[in-house]
Amino acid sequence: MELKLPERINSILSRLEEGGFVAYAAGGAVRDMLMGREPHDYDIATSARPEDIKRIFKRTIDTGIAHGTVTVVENNIGYEVTTFRRDGEYFDGRHPSSVVFVDDIKEDCMRRDFTINAMMYSPKRGLVDFFGGRQDIEQGIIRCVGDGQKRFSEDALRMLRAVRFSATLNFEIEASTAAAIKKCSNLRRRISNERILSELNKLLISDNPDYIRKLHELGLLVHIIPKLDMCFGAEQRNKYHIYDVGEHIMHTLKNARPDLILRWAALLHDIGKPDTASVDSGGVIHFYGHHRVSRAIADDTLHKLRMDKESIRKILVLIENHDVRVDQAPPAVKRMMAKTGDELFSMLLELQLADNAAKNPEYFEDKKLRIEGVRRTFNEIVTSRQPYRISDLVVNGRDLIKLGYKQGRIISDILKALLNEVIIDPKLNTREYLLQRAKELRAYQKNGHF
Ligand code: ATP
Ligand code: MG
Repeated sequence: MELKLPERINSILSRLEEGGFVAYAAGGAVRDMLMGREPHDYDIATSARPEDIKRIFKRTIDTGIAHGTVTVVENNIGYEVTTFRRDGEYFDGRHPSSVVFVDDIKEDCMRRDFTINAMMYSPKRGLVDFFGGRQDIEQGIIRCVGDGQKRFSEDALRMLRAVRFSATLNFEIEASTAAAIKKCSNLRRRISNERILSELNKLLISDNPDYIRKLHELGLLVHIIPKLDMCFGAEQRNKYHIYDVGEHIMHTLKNARPDLILRWAALLHDIGKPDTASVDSGGVIHFYGHHRVSRAIADDTLHKLRMDKESIRKILVLIENHDVRVDQAPPAVKRMMAKTGDELFSMLLELQLADNAAKNPEYFEDKKLRIEGVRRTFNEIVTSRQPYRISDLVVNGRDLIKLGYKQGRIISDILKALLNEVIIDPKLNTREYLLQRAKELRAYQKNGHF
């Protein structure tokens, strides 16, 4: 078995070997190479102790000395080099209470989560695969190293990692591993929200964002985003829909481009539906105001998961407006653009397409035509740089004050009135015209029209 490691990794491995130590590329990088994928980082495992590693390499950083990890810096790039170790007892389901350095490479492989992640490789020593990781890669299987329940109670994050790898690699979770997740699903509370968010992000931008469904089936979702879990099985008895809320969301996700903001908005856009469902006398289900409830639940969920504020803001704008039927006429498009900004407006159209493509196909063609029309209008507005925001006006608040307006709300009211005219006719965005109009509006104001 020969794999091609980058020269810089080979050189780190040989220097450790020359120092009398055993050294391998380990974990995810070996998995990715065996799958013919480009690894995004290379971790190195070695029998050398941290003090040896620091002696052999000129520039190092003590990244996690207590856990045996030293970062070796070569040409300004850092490589994590970790001493073979065994994890001590886990008391909190998150961190081993101690780590013990070992010389036995097998012990280091045993502490790793899944067979596909528990291999090592070096050009000198070949492939090390104690648990059938290579075969599991060939068969597309995620399988725990050792007893699933024991491994998940040591570190509950591994359950989420299992589902995430199954999405990113398009693998199946092996039956006894899946059964162990079902038994351990309530251990979720031991996982920090930051680690959950990071796994969900990776799952959502993968080729299989609908594997969120697996989180539901394995009993994890109810502990992570309970309101989303409720969407599975929530009926939508009306002519526009052919799936329950959960399945509709899964299809919307698959239809959406792999962008985190867009995929999160797709995931949460209908999360308020179970809370807003009402049945009319004809037995038809409605979800009045669900966009607002979805927005509120999303806000709460994303804050709890510690997502950054700017991303949350964008996701909420998309959710809140996902059902707004924007007209193709330029003024209508500009008014919406003024609310969302042009980047988010463009994403809103993407979300609306993805959403509608996940509904009854009978109505899709019409909706698609409308959205494509809006997209054309939008492109025209952007390429010809037509004004649509207050800040696009060639006059500003100071100009109005010079005309005698008092500072305060009246200024923004007048600017809005001017913008309304300019939105309808962009040619009116000249200082001459707008200052003239502002003077006229001042006369109205005196007469009490503002
Ligand atoms: P990727 O970097 O593509 O997300 P990876 O497999 O490299 O996947 P990392 O989180 O970078 O994942 O971890 C590197 C290696 O460390 C893993 O391949 C695995 O062997 C081990 N590992 C990481 N996290 C855990 C964990 N929670 N429990 C056990 N072993 C783990
Ligand atoms: Mg990695």
